[in-house]
Amino acid sequence: MNVARILYPVKVLGPGNRIGIWIAGCPRRCVGCSNPELWETQPKYEVTVFRIMQILIPLLKRRETDGVVITGGDPFFDSRELYHFLLSLEPYTKDVLVYTGYTMEEIQCGDACMKSCLDHIGVLIDGPYQEQLNDGCRMRGSSNQHIYYLRPELKQCYEVYMTSSPNRIQNFTVADGIVSVGIHSRGFNKKLISEARKRGVILGEQ
Ligand code: SF4
Repeated sequence: MNVARILYPVKVLGPGNRIGIWIAGCPRRCVGCSNPELWETQPKYEVTVFRIMQILIPLLKRRETDGVVITGGDPFFDSRELYHFLLSLEPYTKDVLVYTGYTMEEIQCGDACMKSCLDHIGVLIDGPYQEQLNDGCRMRGSSNQHIYYLRPELKQCYEVYMTSSPNRIQNFTVADGIVSVGIHSRGFNKKLISEARKRGVILGEQ
């Protein structure tokens, strides 16, 4: 797997306290993408599913952990690795939320690995980000994307989360700066770069 970052507890991508996993690699280049630094895979991010699980299991076992969110980049960029990862998570949590730039139709028409992933995901949010369709929804970036409750028992909890408070952002301090997590508002990247420049701050990825 090409795992760029793991953050915990993520409170702004799905209900509760979640383990957030960002997988590098995405061919789509959506305008306004929040994570362009994750479009390319990098050798330094390469890690086995076994090693990732060694890191995650203590967090998964915590009582206050409610689920996992896998985003990127595109988790389906390497669907074989994603499939093995999902299988490894399954004994620990059924609430696995996955964001992908593929549409559900593309996944269903994909190879066996892609299709099999659907059996092990709790909630899937599909489709590329379209900046002009960003309507401020708390769970998805733009209105072309769909929320699929592949485990229907999760639906109520997610619906409460979506209506409980407005769109929120959570900032994490990491070794080389700050990572801003959540569903950003339309034009966020441009505004951030412009405001940072005014204050003499150079951002890592522009
Ligand atoms: S699919 Fe997601 S990660 Fe890929 S470019 Fe679009 S918004 Fe960015």
